[in-house]
Amino acid sequence: MYWAGVDIGGTKIAASIAADDAVILGTVRRATPPGADFSPVFEAAAAMVGELLAARGATLKELSGIGISCPGPLDLAAGSIVQVATTGWREVPVRRLFEERFGVPVRLENDANAAAYAEARAGAGRGCGTVVYLTVSTGIGGGICAGGRLLEGAHGFAGELGHVTVDPDGPPCPCGGRGCVQLYASGSSIARRVRELAAKAGPGGFLAGKKEVTAYDVECGVRAGDQLCAGVWDAAMRKLGIAVGILNQVLDPDLFVFGGGVSNAWDLMEGPVLASARRYCYTDTAHHIRLARAQLGGLVGTTGAILLARDLL
Ligand SMILES: [Zn+2]
Repeated sequence: MYWAGVDIGGTKIAASIAADDAVILGTVRRATPPGADFSPVFEAAAAMVGELLAARGATLKELSGIGISCPGPLDLAAGSIVQVATTGWREVPVRRLFEERFGVPVRLENDANAAAYAEARAGAGRGCGTVVYLTVSTGIGGGICAGGRLLEGAHGFAGELGHVTVDPDGPPCPCGGRGCVQLYASGSSIARRVRELAAKAGPGGFLAGKKEVTAYDVECGVRAGDQLCAGVWDAAMRKLGIAVGILNQVLDPDLFVFGGGVSNAWDLMEGPVLASARRYCYTDTAHHIRLARAQLGGLVGTTGAILLARDLL
């Protein structure tokens, strides 16, 4: 029997197929059809699941279930999208759409939680009891896996780790809070801060002549010894470490796993985040903190979706 995992993102859809051992046997990717109408997105994703089954020479009767990873916020009880701001999707009954089309059980989970489950069960956190996963890319997301289970919380909001306050006097956040770690340490925040300081400093410097500055440009600046980039990077990693220290205090996990584009600069991340986390937590527990880079790369979403479907349906 087979399991399908579909990772529906704002720009890309990926679908994978696996047998009961959840080892991925095949993956297909497509661009996400643009626009606020979810119907073409569903049709594309459904066709991809059909293609994967056909490529295995399998029929629908051999499909045990489908897992779906999707940006949120979601209504997990209803199996639906509440709203995805970047695409305009609203009130989409994703689970029902797939159940009606394929006639199998369907599990829907938000993308950060699915990635957390994948890394905890089959990636960097395999064998660990409690894993905290943080994805540091355009924003910061996360998920918590404890005792082999995803911690969803009473209202489905557990693991919104980008919105841990690391500076109560910091700037307001779109979430309604203030000084959230995402405002300092996400890729877009790192790039924005460097742009602001570079504009103040006037012409010249490492980033002179660049129209757009990305977090990757800042990483290159750090490697080239640029003071401005290094200052912003260090401040961002310190704030990220404060959040890790808080989470360590609350959860005492075996491992923190970092995914997302910014963590590709792992050699510039691990040391300063760990030092800051150890500085801002209970001293007697500081030496327990362990950080690791995510292992599943581009397959993290579909792997998580398959594992969640297999384990929880
Ligand atoms: Zn926030």
